[in-house]
Amino acid sequence: MNVQLTDMARHALQTAYDAATDLVLATPELHSFAGWPQAQFAATPATPMPGGPGLAAWQADETTPALALHDAIRAAVPFARWQHTYTEEEVGRDFLNRYGWFELAGPYGHFRTDEMRAYIAYWGEGLEYPFHLHEAEELYYVISGQALFEAEGQPSAVLRAGDTRLHLSNQPHAMRTLEAPILTLVLWRGGGLHGAARMGTQ
Ligand code: ZN
Repeated sequence: MNVQLTDMARHALQTAYDAATDLVLATPELHSFAGWPQAQFAATPATPMPGGPGLAAWQADETTPALALHDAIRAAVPFARWQHTYTEEEVGRDFLNRYGWFELAGPYGHFRTDEMRAYIAYWGEGLEYPFHLHEAEELYYVISGQALFEAEGQPSAVLRAGDTRLHLSNQPHAMRTLEAPILTLVLWRGGGLHGAARMGTQ
């Protein structure tokens, strides 16, 4: 990356981090989950997401509570280290083409901290994210769009912008996007912070 591009990347990611900070500090449900770290920026190479152009072009409704974060993420799409947890065998090619996440703050994130993890995760419309689980406790916050959330021992619910959903340690959960995509802020805390999700229900 040349110096100019590096500056653009840092600015875009810092703007996203600042927007996430504002949201978490203004939302008791988010702040009480795991606090919010004073994480340090760490230069991390970008990796593209096939669905990136779709996300970058997505204009959210003006009434979206986290509109500033939504727009900051759109601007940061080319600079984020987008990842896929799953393989084509597990979720299919269409899923991989229209899904991705990056670690905004955490042990490996654009902003480094060992206190918690904060991901930005995106799914295009009409995708089924099968049941999976992980040791860390998790709080989803819907930045924009909507999806049907399912979890063992919990009623299914369609979550929309501003809604949250807690997943306990190793509680299997799944998600299905309907006619709209979804953009989420996902917080992790507790044991298994450095781990990853795996497919299945046990
Ligand atoms: Zn999860």
